[in-house]
Amino acid sequence: IFITFEGPDGAGKTTQINRLAGEIAKLNRKIVFTREPGGTRISDKIRSIILDPEYAEMKNQAEVLLYAASRAQHVHEKIIPALNEGSIVLCDRFIDASVAYQAHGLGISVDTVLMINRFASSGLIPTRTYMLDIPAQESLKRLHKRAGGDEDAGLDRIELRKLEYHRTVREAFLGIAKEQSDRVLLVNANRGEEEIAADILADFYRLLDQ
Ligand code: C5P
Ligand code: MG
Repeated sequence: IFITFEGPDGAGKTTQINRLAGEIAKLNRKIVFTREPGGTRISDKIRSIILDPEYAEMKNQAEVLLYAASRAQHVHEKIIPALNEGSIVLCDRFIDASVAYQAHGLGISVDTVLMINRFASSGLIPTRTYMLDIPAQESLKRLHKRAGGDEDAGLDRIELRKLEYHRTVREAFLGIAKEQSDRVLLVNANRGEEEIAADILADFYRLLDQ
């Protein structure tokens, strides 16, 4: 079982992954808990290049390919072997994020981004995706709060993009959830942590029963 968490920055993906991981641990199932970009030595090194605000000159094509390169290493070194051993894999972000942030966000064709990422991941598709949804304004508010209140301190190269970019990304995520409702569960993340976790857990148990 391969589960991914998607949604705008600040939606609470990390909190919810931690909670689900805690529940799975009680079931005595093997679990691997990972994130993108990153998750392996090489992928983490690529992550540090992608997110560094110093690299303002990064071209869109390079951004797409760096995310895909990070993912390629992650999928083949870590995710596929874990799935083959029977682990439940929980991953913070996956290809949907590239469709939202790189294709829609940067104005690159969805087909191109999908083609590159299918190659990178050998066509691996999540069993279930939890799409945590919050409005872009709320997302940026939470990011700035996390960064310590004032200015843009602590935000990464992508988070620093304008409200309009984050709006486009959020709309793209909503579109993916709507188009692929068999795989993607849309979760309203503009609520308390407990309520969000309860929705995810209920769905997760249904998934296990199938
Ligand atoms: O989830 P996390 O905040 O750790 O992701 C790192 C950053 O990379 C985020 O700011 C997110 O906006 C960005 N990102 C992206 N495209 C992806 C995945 C993440 O722009 N495909
Ligand atoms: Mg972020």
